[in-house]
Amino acid sequence: MLTVDQYRAQVLKGIEPLAPIEVPLIDSVGCVLAEDVRAPWPLPSFDNSSMDGYAIQARDVAGASPASPVRLRVIDDVPAGYRASEAVQPGTAVRIMTGAPIPDGADAIVPVELTDGSTDIVSVSDSVPVGACIRRAGADVMAGTVVVRQGTELTSRQVAVLAAVGQAEVRVHPRPRVIVISTGSELVEPGTPLTKGLITDSNSYMLVSAVQEAGAIAYRVGPIVDDDAAFMEAIEGQLHRADLIVTSGGVSMGAYDTVKAVLSTLGTVEFTKVLMHPGMPQGHGHVGERGTPIITLPGNPVSSYVSFEVYVRPVIRALRGLAEVERPIMHAACLTGFDSPANKTQFMRGRLTGYEYATVEPVGIAGSHAIGGLAQANCLIVVPTDQGRVQAGERVQVIDLRHG
Ligand code: AMP
Ligand code: MG
Repeated sequence: MLTVDQYRAQVLKGIEPLAPIEVPLIDSVGCVLAEDVRAPWPLPSFDNSSMDGYAIQARDVAGASPASPVRLRVIDDVPAGYRASEAVQPGTAVRIMTGAPIPDGADAIVPVELTDGSTDIVSVSDSVPVGACIRRAGADVMAGTVVVRQGTELTSRQVAVLAAVGQAEVRVHPRPRVIVISTGSELVEPGTPLTKGLITDSNSYMLVSAVQEAGAIAYRVGPIVDDDAAFMEAIEGQLHRADLIVTSGGVSMGAYDTVKAVLSTLGTVEFTKVLMHPGMPQGHGHVGERGTPIITLPGNPVSSYVSFEVYVRPVIRALRGLAEVERPIMHAACLTGFDSPANKTQFMRGRLTGYEYATVEPVGIAGSHAIGGLAQANCLIVVPTDQGRVQAGERVQVIDLRHG
């Protein structure tokens, strides 16, 4: 029997980020950058105006006030995307829009709000200091500096700067392709009328969704009947497009536990009991010529979910090239007491409210089949192995699932 941490370390051993590929920048959100990206030019790349107004020489308007405005001759007009064709001289101004380059000779921008807005002779009713409303080249990013570091999970914010420094394509770790196979002769597709003894295959839908939430691409297969040949065929048919295979069901001690029976003979898949509740029977290893990692989850839906969260999600994140593979543990005051199995780490479904002064309550009935309770949960309360009961009001460890 292994502890959760021991088993997770075992599952993660040898899992390396997938080899980098070039992708169009527009497809890169959610991918992990495989190399540092430097700015080939500064940002802003030229001195430009931060306001709509007039490019002037500050000393011309030093004495301007509403009572005695200064009048300047407007010699040019520059929208964003254009350059002034004339330099600003004493007594003149160039009308300028936000983002347009500062004309030669100008040392400040007077915003349009401090003028009468004229296009021939403009009246300026206030003074501005040298440098007013000028965004300097390189003030944000200097040429040659790293704008996004290798290992960063790209969000809209990084994609923006990568575009700004001209990266049409970026080198990233690809999203892992994860095969989800559910097994069980009792399983039918949602929408199929249920005759006695049959149930709907909910695990493969849950796991496909969880794979996507973890930032990978999911391919759903199943449900596969409890038959060695059928299961073998399903695995073999998927290997060509798999970076990871996740199965559900068939790993307990039952007579028809096909997954265990078939994969045990392949030699590289090990089955273990982990000191956790729910989710005790686990298995992992490698299959196929390329040694594709496989993780076999228990069939009970809550066990399957918790096992995904604790073992599969970290593996997906490691394949994606992320350094942080586990969710951070937060703490909350548990409003209701509950019992916890002795000698096992319990992952109790909970409802979490708040952040800094968070509270949590257990939800749903006990039992690893309880999908209804799972659907109400937005966190897992982690009760350590040596703890038999959580008291009302006690501070507990929580895995926050509220953000995907
Ligand atoms: P097993 O691990 O195959 O022994 O299954 C344990 C329990 O989980 C049984 O009650 C199964 O009917 C149920 N189960 C297995 N696979 C699924 C699935 N894909 N969706 C919903 N329930 C399942
Ligand atoms: Mg089964």
